Amino acid sequence: MTKPLIAANWKMNMTTGESVTFAKRLAEEFARLEDRDVIIAPPFTALYPVAEILRNSGIHLAAQNFHWEKGGAYTGEISAPMLCDIGCRYVLVGHSERRILFGERNEEVNKKAATALAAGLKPIVCIGETLGERESGRTFDILARQIKEGLNNISPDDIESVTLAYEPVWAIGTGKTATTEQAEEVHRFIREEIGGIFGKAKAGETAIIYGGSVKPDNIAGLMDQPDINGALVGGASLDFESFAKIIKY
Ligand code: PEP
Repeated sequence: MTKPLIAANWKMNMTTGESVTFAKRLAEEFARLEDRDVIIAPPFTALYPVAEILRNSGIHLAAQNFHWEKGGAYTGEISAPMLCDIGCRYVLVGHSERRILFGERNEEVNKKAATALAAGLKPIVCIGETLGERESGRTFDILARQIKEGLNNISPDDIESVTLAYEPVWAIGTGKTATTEQAEEVHRFIREEIGGIFGKAKAGETAIIYGGSVKPDNIAGLMDQPDINGALVGGASLDFESFAKIIKY
């Protein structure tokens, strides 16, 4: 089984100064944690200084997005080799805000997942259903499609470098967390789907983390579930004390 993985997604928040202060505290308090992986995803502007602070700390750096091309005439975009160059190890792919606000489809998610892996970055591939999809009984169909299309042509050797983040859209930033039973039911389904595509042994080694209003008071219950391997934390990761409590759940 994988180590618990706690990841912070700061979204479009935090100045470079604020990010550096936060990263320094994190590196001081959680340097070389043996029993869990901690990842932070600051905005692009803070990646380089934060990378310098986290170097050798054991805390990993993620980007929130990138473009699948290696370079060229793509004004405003950042490539996977650029992220590797400054010390990123992970990258978020297909976050629901990218899907809903910026029109990313499973096809782009797949290109990004494949490009990240080829560049040596570990993609955290986000999947999840909307409230309407859940209420109309389509949760499992939507997730199966996001997995099949998003991970199309990824090799079984690479799947261990992929983290799946189940983030029900209706739970993101809303204060509504899926119940531990709802989350575990979906995580078990995701693991079965991964098993169907990549084999049962690989599915057992794939980290599947939960995101959606994770807070200090609900993390322990979620982490008690057999198929929940970690958390992707948005709002509660912006406050040091609250993120620290989540790390120490
Ligand atoms: C997210 O955006 O990935 C997220 C999980 O946000 P929040 O924790 O604020 O719901």
